[in-house]
Parts: sequence; C-alpha cells; structure tokens
Amino acid sequence: MSEIQTLKAREVLDSRGNPTVEVELTTEQGIFRALTPSGASAGQHEALELRDNDPKRFLGKGVLKALDNVNKKIAPKIIGLDCCFQESIDTLMIKLDSTENKGKLGANAILPVSMAVARAGAAAKGLPLYVYIGELYGVTPHLLPVPMCNIINGGKHAGQENSIQEHMLMPTGAKSFREGIRMVAESYHNLAKILKKKFGATGILIGDEGGFAPAQVIDISERLDLMLEAVAAAGYEGKMKIALDPASSEFFYDGTYKIGDKSYSGAEMVDFYVDLCNRYPIVSIEDGLAEDDWDSWVEMTRKLGGKIQIVGDDLFVTNTKRIKKGIGLEAANSVLIKLNQIGTVTETLNAIKMAQDNSWTAVVSHRSGETEDAFIADLVVGTNAGQIKTGAPARSDRAAKYNQLLRIEEELGGDAEYPGIDFRDYA
Ligand code: PEP
Ligand code: MG
Repeated sequence: MSEIQTLKAREVLDSRGNPTVEVELTTEQGIFRALTPSGASAGQHEALELRDNDPKRFLGKGVLKALDNVNKKIAPKIIGLDCCFQESIDTLMIKLDSTENKGKLGANAILPVSMAVARAGAAAKGLPLYVYIGELYGVTPHLLPVPMCNIINGGKHAGQENSIQEHMLMPTGAKSFREGIRMVAESYHNLAKILKKKFGATGILIGDEGGFAPAQVIDISERLDLMLEAVAAAGYEGKMKIALDPASSEFFYDGTYKIGDKSYSGAEMVDFYVDLCNRYPIVSIEDGLAEDDWDSWVEMTRKLGGKIQIVGDDLFVTNTKRIKKGIGLEAANSVLIKLNQIGTVTETLNAIKMAQDNSWTAVVSHRSGETEDAFIADLVVGTNAGQIKTGAPARSDRAAKYNQLLRIEEELGGDAEYPGIDFRDYA
C-alpha cells in the first residue's frame, strides 16, 4: 500500500508556448509529475481540453479552470488512496466527471493525474515505468518501436492551409532502435543541407513537430522526392520507408477534399493515395480521409489495406466505441493512440488492447503541442505496440521521447527486440 499524500496542479508552458497542466503528486516514495500535451489538428470527437477562454490571459488559452478541477475536485477524492489502484482511480475520475467527453473536469485535468498515479504506482512497486505499464497491460515488455519521424511538417503545424500535414521516415532497415534513430537524424541533417541549398534560410524554417516546413514546396511528390534525396545522401537508400499523416479533416469542406488548388471527392482521394503508393515506398497512411467519412475509409481499406497500414487518428480518437465501429466496418487496420484524446491511462490501454485483440496495429503518438514528459516512450514499450510517432529527431520536446527509448533499449539489453520491416506483424 502506498498512499497518495498530496496532489496539486500548476500552469506551465508547452512546446508552442501555450499554457498546459502539470500535476505533482506525492507518496512516501517521493514526488511524481506529469504534463499533458495538446493537439492543433484535434479531432472533433476527442475528449474536451478545458481552456479558460479569458482573453486577458494567454489569448484565452489559460488552464486555471483545469487546475481548479485538479486541486479542488479531484485531489480531495484521491488523496489517501493507494496509487497502485490505477484502474479504480481512473474510474473514479471518469465517474466524478460523469460526461461522455470529460466535459466537466477536462481531459487536461484528468489525464496528468492518471499519468502521475502510474508513475507513483511504478515507484511503489520498485519498477521502471514501462515494466509497470506492462504489468497493468498484461505483457512482458521487450519490443522497441519503429519510429515514425516527421521530417517535413505541413498543414496546421506549419501555418499552411489545404496541405498534407506529416511526412515521416520509418527506419525499417535498422537492426535496433538506436541504429534507426541515427539513420533518421543523419537523413534529417542531409535534408537541411538540401533545403538550405535550394531555398536559403527560409527553406529550413521548422514546424511544430521539429520537421522542416519549406513553404516553397507544396506538392506532395516534390516533398517526398526531397525526403528520398536526403535518405540517399545519408547512405540509407532502401532502408527507410515513408509514412504519411495528411490529417485530412483539416482540408475537408462539405464533402470535398482540397489540397493546394485541387479538389477531390472521397473516391478520388483514395485513388490519389493508390497512385502515391505505386510511386513511393509508403507503408502507412494516417487520416487519409476525414473523421466522419466512414464510407471512403472502407473504400480505402478495401483498395490499399492489403498493402499498407491504414491508421485512424481523428477517426477513432483512442475511443473504444469508435474503434469497435471501425473494426466492424473494416474501415482501417490500425489505431493511432493519444492519451489526451481519451483522458486516462486505463482507457488508453483498453484502446490498444482492442486494436491488438483484433490483429490491428496500434501506433502510440505525441501531440503537436508537447512537453518534456516522455510518458509515451514507456507506454509504447509497456504495451509492445511496436510503433511510435513522435516528430522529428530534433527539439527537446520530441527528442525527450527518443532519448527515453534509447535508455529503455539499453536497459533491456539482450531482451530488446526491434521489429524493423515486420512492424505490422506484432499486432
Ligand atoms: C496528428 O494529427 O497526428 C498530430 C500529432 O497532430 P495534433 O497533435 O495537432 O492533432
Ligand atoms: Mg494525425
């Protein structure tokens, strides 16, 4: 038994300079902190992120209401409870909120408490966080993830409209996570050289996730050609695959998709991806279609699902109700996992479980607004999920996750496994 002794929240900054919630929880083992991230291209069906909407503070983005909810509503209920009871504490917070979307307390109040409880639970049992998550989830953690590293940022993350959001490298030809990260970092720096030479200083401006955001390069083929040129310059031709997250809900208007000055129906979007997959080594496409365009998702999975990974992010919002619907419809074959889309560790583990039980993959993900909290690194190994998406191999908010994975790989030693090109076989 290790009692939660104190719990308090404070307003701190995220990677975009917006306020976010940090909580601090104490037990006899010490102080445990957790911070909540924040999305920009957030899905409409996500749990609520509670903002103050007071224009006099942080342009309305303050989180003082969420702090109040932690300090005055959640803390009195969970102080004195055993921090090892993750599921019951999460259930208690869900009931205390009592809405479908964490609309009263805010997912940004509930989630950091849930994460800090997990950290305290791990310490109470004397275990590293990823091992403790493995206990909660029911597996022995051994699988390092293949990273999806976003080296060209577009869309909302780069201040662009009607533009594909994420262009990622997956080092599938690496033998270990450590080698994979080095391959990506070297390609990233080669891309910087190429962009600088072509476009000068404005070519190497960066977006929210640390990737380059060259406003001069809007065409998707041109973006992918640049990435492959960088991979070749780094000496890794054939050893890297491409993953995309168009985040298409952001360029979907009344039934029509708009990229640059071109318009597409749902069926035409699917054909657009089929053509891209024929021309480039693409192995995964996330949110190729909009969050409620289920019919087009089914069509895309029928046409491309045998060949590549079709990942639902805004479509599923880490919510088992929506994932269940997607499994029934065969609308995808993979789920993106974001803790703050659903709001507790327990519900997040349930979402991963539902995917894996149905032979779907689960890709653990950061948000575009991040913090130094590297919880998702432990989460991805703790569930043997095998894939993580956490931005460019640059900027500390992103590197923090990769660095924690490097530590975990070292700690696992000979037990560590890296899936490489077989990342979809570990569902
Ligand atoms: C995403 O769309 O997958 C993403 C990480 O962006 P955001 O956090 O802005 O939703
Ligand atoms: Mg996405």
